[in-house]
Amino acid sequence: MQREMIYIALGSNLGNSKQLILDAMDKLELWIRSTLVRSSLWRSRPLDCPDGSADFVNAVVGYEAPDGENPMHLLQRLQALEAESGRPATRERNSPRSLDLDIVCIGSLVMNTTDLTIPHPRAKDRAFVLLPLQEIAPELVFPDSGLSVKELVAKVSSAGVVRI
Ligand code: ADP
Ligand code: MG
Repeated sequence: MQREMIYIALGSNLGNSKQLILDAMDKLELWIRSTLVRSSLWRSRPLDCPDGSADFVNAVVGYEAPDGENPMHLLQRLQALEAESGRPATRERNSPRSLDLDIVCIGSLVMNTTDLTIPHPRAKDRAFVLLPLQEIAPELVFPDSGLSVKELVAKVSSAGVVRI
C-alpha cells in the first residue's frame, strides 16, 4: 500500500530567510532519515503583519509518513527547530519570525485539538502555501474539504506571491 505523505510549510521574514529555510529543510531531512520532496523557494508579501514587516520566503516539503507517526511529537520537533533558528517562545501574534513551520497535512488525518489542527486551518486560503504545495503535490486532496491543491489554487488570489 502506498504510504501517506506529510506536508510541512516553511516561512521566514527575519534574518537570512533563504538560508534559514534551506537549513531547516536539511535538519528535517536528517531527523526523518529519508529524502524530502522540496518545492522551490517563493517570496510573498506579508499579510496581516505589523507595518514595515519584511517579505516572507516560503516553501513546502513533503515526505512519506513513518509508521506510527505521532502528530504532537512532530509538532514538538518542528517547534524545537523554530527555537534553534532564534524564534522566541513567546511573541506577538504575526510578528516577524526567523522560522515558522506549520503542518499542512498528515495523509488523510483530520484532527482538532487546542494545540494542533490538521489539516492546518488556514493553509487552504494561503497562496504562499498552495503555490509551493502545487509544485510537489498538485493532486493532493485536503481531507477536510475534499478539494485538491489545484482546485484550491484556483480559488485564491496569488497576488504578491512569486517563485524566486
Ligand atoms: P502561525 O503559524 O499561525 O503564525 P505560530 O507559529 O505562533 O502561529 O503557531 C501558533 C500555534 O499554532 C502553535 O503553538 C501550535 O500549537 C498551533 N497549531 C495548530 N495547528 C497547527 C499546525 N497544523 N501546524 C503548526 N502549528 C499548529
Ligand atoms: Mg506556525
